[in-house]
Amino acid sequence: MALNYFDQHGHLTDEGIARYAEALRQDAVDKLPSAIVQHIEQCEPCHGQALDLYALIADADYSALGALPAPQATVRRLWVVRAAAAAVFVMLSWLAYRLSVPAPPTPPVVKVETPVDTTSQDSPGA
Ligand SMILES: [Zn+2]
Repeated sequence: MALNYFDQHGHLTDEGIARYAEALRQDAVDKLPSAIVQHIEQCEPCHGQALDLYALIADADYSALGALPAPQATVRRLWVVRAAAAAVFVMLSWLAYRLSVPAPPTPPVVKVETPVDTTSQDSPGA
């Protein structure tokens, strides 16, 4: 089965990154196609993704599944890594935004009498 490990931009596909992370976990990097290894060594984004994925699958116990888990399971974990990274990025962007924008002047507090809801069933501690 000839898998394409590189996308149209010359970076590793999910399959290629998953292969590398799996090989790291099994201490079998030297058995990988040398094109993958060479690219990983030179490409920071692909290297980072592979290491993130490796950190994730290194903790997982695949021993019950045999030596070689289905590649799709590893590729799915890659998306978990990306979702987590995206969530962190969104949080940091929001934080940076909040810190860079001065808080608006607080409007004068206006007391508004709200009618007490005596029919409320869910008042705590009643
Ligand atoms: Zn790359």
